[in-house]
Amino acid sequence: MSDRTIDRYLVIGNPVAHSLSPLIHAEFARLSGQVLSYGRERCAEGGFAALLRTLLDTGLRGCNVTVPFKFDALQAATQRSARAALAGAANTLWVDAAGAVQADNTDGVGLVRDIESGAGVAIEGRRVLLIGAGGAAAGVLGPLLAARPASLVLCNRSADRADALAAGHREWAATHGARLQTASIGSPFDGVPVPYDVVINATASSLHGAASPVPATVLAQGTLAVDLMYGDAAAPFLAWAQDSGATGRDGLGMLVEQAAESFQVWRGVRPPTAPVLAMLREHLALQKAAR
Ligand code: NDP
Repeated sequence: MSDRTIDRYLVIGNPVAHSLSPLIHAEFARLSGQVLSYGRERCAEGGFAALLRTLLDTGLRGCNVTVPFKFDALQAATQRSARAALAGAANTLWVDAAGAVQADNTDGVGLVRDIESGAGVAIEGRRVLLIGAGGAAAGVLGPLLAARPASLVLCNRSADRADALAAGHREWAATHGARLQTASIGSPFDGVPVPYDVVINATASSLHGAASPVPATVLAQGTLAVDLMYGDAAAPFLAWAQDSGATGRDGLGMLVEQAAESFQVWRGVRPPTAPVLAMLREHLALQKAAR
C-alpha cells in the first residue's frame, strides 16, 4: 500500500522500464532534503488521459511524461506554460493549489543549460543545426531560439514536418533576433555549405543503426555535436563526430537538466545537477560492465 502522506510523482511512458528518471529524482530529493516518492508507470496506447485521471484521483502530485505521450500530456492539462504551448507538447504535469492540471515543457531549457553550462558553449551569435521534427525537436526549438543564435537551420527526414515546426516558431525566432530556416536533410545548409558551431541530433536515427542522418560536412574542428540519445545508442553518433574533430556530447546532461527544471517547478527547490550526472555516468558504466 502506498503512503499517501508522502508526495508522489512518477514518469509515464511506453516503454518506461529503462527510464532513469526515478533514479535521478530520488537523488535530487536526497541532495535537497525533500521527502517524496518517484516511480514509473507504463501506459497503453490511447490510454493516457484515463490513466492520468486515475493517478490524480489517488493523490499523485505530478508526473513527467515521455515517448509517445508528450502531445497527449499537453491536451490533458487545463493550463499550459508558454513554452509548452509553443512546443505543442509537455513533459511535466502537476496539480496546482486550485486543483488545475498544469503542463510545462522542460526539455528545451534542459538542453540549453547543458550546452551552455555543461559543455561551456554560449549559443548566442552561433550557427546552429537542429536535426529532427518529432516531440524532442519541438520541445527544444523554442528555448534554442530564445538563446539568440545568429541562425538556426532545421532539417528532418520528412521535410514537411520540419516546415510545419519552423512555421510555428517564425515569430518567436524574429522576437529573439535569430534567423530560422529549413533545409533538406541530405544537404542541410542555408546556402553555402559552411560547417556549424553547434549540431544537435534530435532524431531516433541511432536506434536504427545510423551514426548520423546528415553528412559529416556539417562538422568542423571545434563544432559541438550533441545527440539527445545516451548510453550505447549515442555511441555511433559520438564516434562520427569525433572522426571530424568535433566535440561529441550525449543527451545525459540534458536528461538531468530537464529533470532538475521539473523538480524545481514541482518543489520550488533547484537540485544540484553535477553530482547526479556523475552518478548516472557511473551507473551506466557499471550496467555496461555487468553485461
Ligand atoms: P519522435 O518519435 O517524436 O520523433 C522521431 C524523430 O526522429 C523524427 O524527426 C523522425 O523523422 C526521426 N527519425 C526516426 N528515424 C529516423 C531515421 N532512421 N533517420 C532519420 N530520422 C529519423 O521522437 P522524439 O522526438 O520524442 O525523440 C527523439 C529522440 O530524442 C529519442 O530517441 C529520445 O530518446 C531522445 N530524447 C532525449 C531526451 C533527453 O533528455 N536526453 C529528451 C527527449 C527525447 P520523421 O519525422 O521523418 O519520422
